Order: sequence, then C-alpha cells, then structure tokens
Amino acid sequence: MKKIFIFSLLFLIGGVANAQTFSDVFHDKSMRFDYYHCGDSTSEAFFYEKIVEEPYWGGSKVNLVDEAGYGNHLFKVIDKESGDLLYSRGYCSLFNEWQHTEEANTSRKGYKESLVFPYPKNDVVLEIYTRNFANGEFVKQFSKDIDPEYFQIIPHRAKGEVFDIEVNGDAATSIDIVVLSEGYTTDKKDKFVKDVERFAESLWAYSPFKEERKRFNVRAVWCGDGFGDGISIPKDDVWVNTPLNAKFYTFDSERYQMVDDLQVVRDYAANAPYDYIYILSNSTKYGGGGIYNFYGISSANHESLTAEVYVHEFGHLFMGLADEYEGDSEEMYNLEVEPWEENITTLVNFKSKNWSRMIGRKVEIPTEICDANKDVVGVYEGAGYVKKGAYRPWLECIMRSLNGTVFCPVCQDALKRHIDFLAK
Ligand SMILES: [Zn+2]
Repeated sequence: MKKIFIFSLLFLIGGVANAQTFSDVFHDKSMRFDYYHCGDSTSEAFFYEKIVEEPYWGGSKVNLVDEAGYGNHLFKVIDKESGDLLYSRGYCSLFNEWQHTEEANTSRKGYKESLVFPYPKNDVVLEIYTRNFANGEFVKQFSKDIDPEYFQIIPHRAKGEVFDIEVNGDAATSIDIVVLSEGYTTDKKDKFVKDVERFAESLWAYSPFKEERKRFNVRAVWCGDGFGDGISIPKDDVWVNTPLNAKFYTFDSERYQMVDDLQVVRDYAANAPYDYIYILSNSTKYGGGGIYNFYGISSANHESLTAEVYVHEFGHLFMGLADEYEGDSEEMYNLEVEPWEENITTLVNFKSKNWSRMIGRKVEIPTEICDANKDVVGVYEGAGYVKKGAYRPWLECIMRSLNGTVFCPVCQDALKRHIDFLAK
C-alpha cells in the first residue's frame, strides 16, 4: 500500500513531462494564439482574435512546464480530457506596462498580443493569468477551449527571408534567437546581416553568454524590400513606412522605442524556429526596450553604447531581469511584495532568492554604498525605479548602467540557471 502511494505521489510531482513524451501530445510545429489585451489602469480583459499554425517549434521538448516563476503573466496549456498541464510559460506585456502610465487612468486601450506554444494533438484549454499587484499571486483572467483540428485555424504565410548567422545545434536543445530587420531600405540587406553579426558578438562578449555561446543559435529574418529608411519619431513628425511600425516615444517617453503589434512581429519571426525575438532598427537615435518573453528592440547604429543597449535589453527579454537603477516611478513595483525578478528585492522575502545565498557572512544588509564595496555582492538601496525600498545586488551591473561592463554575479547566476532550463 505504501509503495503504491509513493509511486503515485512521484507520478503526480513528475506531471506530464515524465508520463508522456513531447511527441505523444504535441506536433513538431507551433500554435499561435492571437488576442487583444485591453483595459485601463485598474482593469484588464483578454479577447480572442485568431489562431495561426506556424511551421517550427524552437523550444525545449523536455522542459515544457515553467519552473522559473518569472513574469507578470502566465499561460497554461491543459489537456482538455485528462486535465494534465502540458505546457506553461511566464511572460510580460506592453499592455501591462501601459497600465502604469497616466493615460491609463483616464482611457481604455487595447494592444494586439500573441502566445506561442507547441501545436497540441488533442483538444486543450488555454488559460491566461495575471499577477495581482497587491499580493503578487497569479489570478486567472481568461480561458478558452481549443480544437487543434478546427478548420478556421490559419496556416502561416511566410513573409521575409531567413539567414543563418550562427547555428550551433538542434532547435529543441538550443536557445534560438531570431533577429528581425526594421527600417532598412532594400539596398541595405548586407548591412543588416552585418548588424546582426555585431548584435551576436555583443552578447558573446558578456558572461555567461560568452561561456554558453554553443548552446545558442542566431538567425536573421530580412523583413522585405520596398520599405523606408529609419523608424518613426512621432514628436519630430517623422513617420516612416516600415515592416513592423516601430517607433520612439512609446508612452510619450523619447527613448522608449517599441512595436505596438506583437502579432506582426511574430508573422516574420515564424520563418525560423525561435525562443526569443530581437528587432534591430536601422536608426542612429539612442533607444530601445525589452520585455520578458515578448520581444526586444534597439537601434543598430547609435554612435556609442549600441552593444551595451543590446545586452541590457536582452537581459529584460531573456528572463525579465529588472532595471537596477533608481527613479521616481513608484507605481511600477509594490514595495510590500517581494518582486519575482531575481536581481532586485524589497527585503519582504529576500530568503526566497538565490542571491541571498551569495552574500558573504560579514556583509551587512542593507550594504553601504562606497568604493570599498565595488566588487562585493550585497543589498544596495536604489533599484526598480525607486530610491528607497528596493535594493540591487551590485553597485554597477549592466542592468543598472550602460557603463557597467558586466552582468553582476547575481544576474550571471540567474542567467546561467535559465540557460540550463531552456537548452534541454
Ligand atoms: Zn545585476
């Protein structure tokens, strides 16, 4: 009796990953679920738009259930008949960031967003959750039954042209980055490929990407001919016809360069197997952005700091590393809750972080900000856009300052663990 109990307990803990293999429940391609993410500063709703069948699955076929717990949202793909959790991932969204703007206090707005997961063989239920700002817990916001044989599912129509930049291994066991062109005129295709090579070299210059390079693949997608030069700068009345409609002044912030429509981005990205999407914009103007498990973007031709911006934004995109710098945006984090990001703390539940085990016995918490502590992992006040109440692990990590020449030891440790999870 006892043996049977232990067996069934193990079975439950192991979940579907141990009980069934990838090919039992998924085809080797992707399902893309497109929706509108709408609301205002205090409310949120998801509206189903369409489902697209995409030709590649670039993710792991082993680590299907999210273990990291990162993100302000979480989605789950559940087998309808058995109730087994087949796949899950955390992510963040542009809509969620917009909810913290002034505009969201007086307007309701919607963004086109999208989720990608391996293509199910049988009927599934898709559930989307959002983290509650007051307590940090995920709350279910949306649920939809999906029949993978439904005749309205749209086949992907290939757009653009793919180039291998650096392919080191199979898509399933590698981390696949797809880099999209934005704002390049037809005669600048060669320049774009060189810019992607430079993007990749920038990542390999930083640990732990330097040591883990062979576990990554980088591919480029040329998003087509006949578009204008550069990207839109609304406040300067510069409007350019580009494939993705990237622009500066997102949320009226000059440096915040983003694309509002994730679905268009995915139309191009789907030409290659991918885990992460990065957009290179052919601009000399400083700026960019990166959202966890969403996409990253920055200018390919700023006169300085281009590489540093790539790496910083990739930190946001790859695992939601927080900004370690200060500011006056008190509404971004609830200081009464421990943030899920690995590299900032409110000290509400610091013990939950691996960082807490990386602090020397003689280091005081909080740690004094002084030159003597330049290379000391500590708990330094000032991070997550506030001067008080949020703390960072290192004085000058690249997630704090573009003059920071490294990811701090806490970011490096977290990045390495996430690479190990994804590249399986
Ligand atoms: Zn750091």
